[in-house]
Amino acid sequence: MTHITVYGGVDHIGGNKILLEDGDTRIFLDFGEQFNFKDDFFADWLKPRDARTGLKDYFHFDLIPKIPGLYGKRWLAHTDLKYEKPSFDAIFISHMHFDHAMHLKFVDDDVPVYLGAAADTIRRSWETTGGTSVSFGEHDFRTFRTGSKVNVGSMEVEPIHVDHSVPGAYGFLVHTSAGCVAYTGDLRLHGPRSDMTKEFVRHAAAENPIALICEGTRVSPSDPREDLSEMEVRARAMELVAGHKNKLAIVSFYPKDVDRMRTFRDVAKATGRKFVVSAKIAHLLESLKGDSRISVPDPMTDPNMLVYVRQGMQRPFPYEKHYIDMRGSSDHVVNSEDVAKRQNQLIFHNDFTQLTELIDILPSPGSLFIRSKSEPFEEDDVQDEVLKNWISSFKLDFHQAHASGHANMEEIFHMVRDIKPKVVIPIHTEHSDLFRRCGRSVECPVVRKTISL
Ligand SMILES: [Zn+2]
Ligand SMILES: [Zn+2]
Repeated sequence: MTHITVYGGVDHIGGNKILLEDGDTRIFLDFGEQFNFKDDFFADWLKPRDARTGLKDYFHFDLIPKIPGLYGKRWLAHTDLKYEKPSFDAIFISHMHFDHAMHLKFVDDDVPVYLGAAADTIRRSWETTGGTSVSFGEHDFRTFRTGSKVNVGSMEVEPIHVDHSVPGAYGFLVHTSAGCVAYTGDLRLHGPRSDMTKEFVRHAAAENPIALICEGTRVSPSDPREDLSEMEVRARAMELVAGHKNKLAIVSFYPKDVDRMRTFRDVAKATGRKFVVSAKIAHLLESLKGDSRISVPDPMTDPNMLVYVRQGMQRPFPYEKHYIDMRGSSDHVVNSEDVAKRQNQLIFHNDFTQLTELIDILPSPGSLFIRSKSEPFEEDDVQDEVLKNWISSFKLDFHQAHASGHANMEEIFHMVRDIKPKVVIPIHTEHSDLFRRCGRSVECPVVRKTISL
């Protein structure tokens, strides 16, 4: 009477949608969007018509599973799936990366969503700063912390924090009538808070789980990802910045990786510079600073940080206007002219979508550009090519310093052996077969095929 059906995240890194059923109780673990999920049928200006026809185009190409009693009325109006009152009890989100949460917007708002307190802060900041295209729906968002126990029908869900490249990341122990089902979410063991991941492993092992749904991002015959720790990224960046004394230092990384922000704030401090972040990042950091359990630098008060505002915005978002209005009265707010004038005193954060700011700043030739990734979803050949052209056009000195948000294959297998589940169900991986090497019984999920426990 306990079943797992995986609707997303099979043979792919991300897009997790895992249905767990225990008798009449039905919950989803994560409800994300698969990386590149539309790209087989849509490109450039050819886009799904979701604003007009809801899920019709997605259903036509079978991009989103047709599940009765799950989606909101307005998304189904133009489809052949009839609206029904929700027959799902809750969705639990492991962390606020788009490959785990982005499809929440399609789910009926009457389905409550549980997520970590910090994850919910990130959700709200993301909706405020992301423009009209970013929405996670109007659900009843209920927050938990490590130590919480959430009862949903016949199941009890125990979230336990894990270390990942975004704050508010959790694994789950779900107590069902058949036994404990553990789910890793995304996690790493080489990060600054590996103690949290170890705590998850310890608790999971103590429950003798009947199944472990386990991420395997880096379970792969060859791991192209450079395996630096956050400390090693810091050391390398420090050396690089110190070696470019009279030049601007530019760094590009995923704008929700708070650990990396702390790292580059520290690099700025050690090299006598200031770390400049966008208004969007400032909004996220200022939102998270109220959470006493996370240490985040505050760009408006930290002596080694500044906030960058874009110029010539016709109608800036209110959050950005808030910072624009402070330029002049606060010496923590700068624009492109300020950055251009003080190149050798700054480390400038610039993610891919904001490269155009470099046209205003005009970094002097030979300026440093460090790319510092943490998530696999930033890998994109077209973007790589475009970035290369920008680097050569501005004559920048390009370097990389990556630290992954995910445990490597050996660490994952080690973790599985420690937890000793009856069966491992690999997810969030392109190589679920390789899990057979971990020495436990493995059930490779087939998308939409129910596994009975
Ligand atoms: Zn993920
Ligand atoms: Zn993630």
